[in-house]
Formats: sequence, C-alpha cells, structure tokens
Amino acid sequence: MENSIDSIKNNFLDELNSVRNAQDLESLRIKHLGRKGTIQELYSKLKDADPADRPGLGKEINALRTIIEAELNEAKSRYAVRKSRQKVDLTLPGRTPSVGRKHPLTLVQEEIKKYFSRLGFSVADGPDVETDFFNFAALNFPENHPARAMQDTLFITENILLRTHTSPVQIRTMMEQKPPVRIIAPGRVYRRDTPDASHSPFFHQIEGLFVDKRVSFGHLRAVIQEFARYMFGADIHVRFRPSFFPFTEPSMEYDFNCIFCRGKGCKVCKYTGWIEISGAGMVHPNVFRAVGYDPDVITGYAFGMGVDRIAMLKYNIDDIRLFFENDMRFLSQFN
Ligand SMILES: [Zn+2]
Repeated sequence: MENSIDSIKNNFLDELNSVRNAQDLESLRIKHLGRKGTIQELYSKLKDADPADRPGLGKEINALRTIIEAELNEAKSRYAVRKSRQKVDLTLPGRTPSVGRKHPLTLVQEEIKKYFSRLGFSVADGPDVETDFFNFAALNFPENHPARAMQDTLFITENILLRTHTSPVQIRTMMEQKPPVRIIAPGRVYRRDTPDASHSPFFHQIEGLFVDKRVSFGHLRAVIQEFARYMFGADIHVRFRPSFFPFTEPSMEYDFNCIFCRGKGCKVCKYTGWIEISGAGMVHPNVFRAVGYDPDVITGYAFGMGVDRIAMLKYNIDDIRLFFENDMRFLSQFN
C-alpha cells in the first residue's frame, strides 16, 4: 500500500506538469480528489491493511491529500492570473496622458520675439516692482504728469510702484551698456483698472528700443510695417498718427488694417478699416541725458505693443479676462 501512495504522488506531479489549461486541471482534481478518486480509493483500502499499520498509513494518505490540494490550488490561481491577463485587448488604442500646453500669450510672445530676434534684437528683462525714477522720472515724465496720479499707478510706497509699462527696461539697459542698443523687453505691467472685456489690472507689453547713430523714423516705420505683415498677413498696412508720450519726440500711435475685414470696414473696427495697436516714437533727448548718452550724437526709436491685444486679434478672442482665468476648456484650444 505504501508503494501505491508513492506512485500516486509521483504520477500526480508528472500529470500536473503536463497540464495545459483549466480543463486539464479540473480533470486532474476529479481524478485524485473526486468521490471515486485515487485518495478516496486509498482510504477505502485502509480497512484491508494490518491494523497496526493503519494509523501510519492514514497519516501518509492525509499528507498526500494535503500536497495534492495545495498544488492544485496554486496551479489554479496561476491560471486565474493568466486568464485575467488575456482580458487585456492589445488592439485598443492606448490612454493618452494629458500633456501641458503653452498659454496663448506665451505663444504670441514667442512669435513676436522670433520676428525681432531675426532683426538682431536681443531680449532684455527688468523687475515688475520699480522705482519712480525708472518708471517715470528718467522717462521724462514731469512731476505733475497725470500718468503718475493714483488712479493709474499701483504705488507700493511713495517712491516704489508696480511698473505701468515696460519702458523702465529701456532705462536700465541704456544705463548698463553703451550704444548701439537693440532690445525688446517683454513683460507684465500693471494699472489701476477695473477688469472688463477689454481692461485688466495687469497685462503684457513688449517694448522695443533701437539706439545708434543716425537711427531714423524711417527705420521704425519699416520694422513695424514688416511686423504687421509677419503677424497678420502681407495685405496688412500700418498707419501712424501723431500723439504724445513724455519719453518720445515726435510721438506716434500706430494702427494696423483691421485683420477681420482686411481694411474694408466692419463692426470690430467700427467701419474705419483700422485697429489701434500701440505707441511709438523717436527717443526724447531728455531720456538720453538721463542715462548719460549724448543726444547730439545718438538717436533712437522706441515702440510698445500689447501682447494681450495682439493675441486677441490673432485668435479672435473678445474678452481679455479669458487669458487669466485658467479655464482649461479655453486654454486647451491653443497650440
Ligand atoms: Zn474691420
């Protein structure tokens, strides 16, 4: 009887090795653990054994049953795992991880930078928190100029403020280097304004400055005209209108042909065919004096442009607040 216990054990292990699927496994279970299985057969043969050997043989049969049960259970769980793996449909498309996108203002700013860097402009930077000197005094703002008044400027102390334009970067750059200077200065600026569709207490400007001997208004005009074509298309023209800024003389405001009607006249441009972009002009001699340049030798032009405004035109956005609300439904449309 001991022999048959051993041979059943050896046979079982061989059979288990050749099991290929869950059905094979179930047949094996029935063969050994079933009501007419080998284990049951061994128990029924016990009564024929010598009574003295019965307890020892009974233990051996129990041990064999435990081994068979444990091996079958382990094999069964292996098949269950394999089966659940087979449920993965490899032909399905993968899950795309959500990838961040650039903000529309960043995209437009990069495009503007690209244009000016091709013309040899480098990018200059300055602090958002400025002093009266860099934001106003050095830019030839008289002591009593209305732009210094509390309703426009966000003052921190009497002398420290949030910059109202990117022009302080002109002063900082010219004080640090000798002419020629050819820079653009992108950055955030601040005004005391109540937010609505076209106003925000902060927005983004790009300042441009070119200073050298014999720089003329013609150069400025050409650079702005080419920029309009680069940004909005070959048929977009620029016009300059006389204006006033303390830091330029003469001062101009410049308009682009309305990009929606291409100059024919529509609701957006109030049927004028033109859209206001920003200001520009020839650098005022007092600004050169403030930074230690000789206005008899050096000339230069400066211009500003609103990044938010250009982005609104480019993407046909009618509310500036959309840029700052961080609504993913809005932001995910760009790029
Ligand atoms: Zn129009």
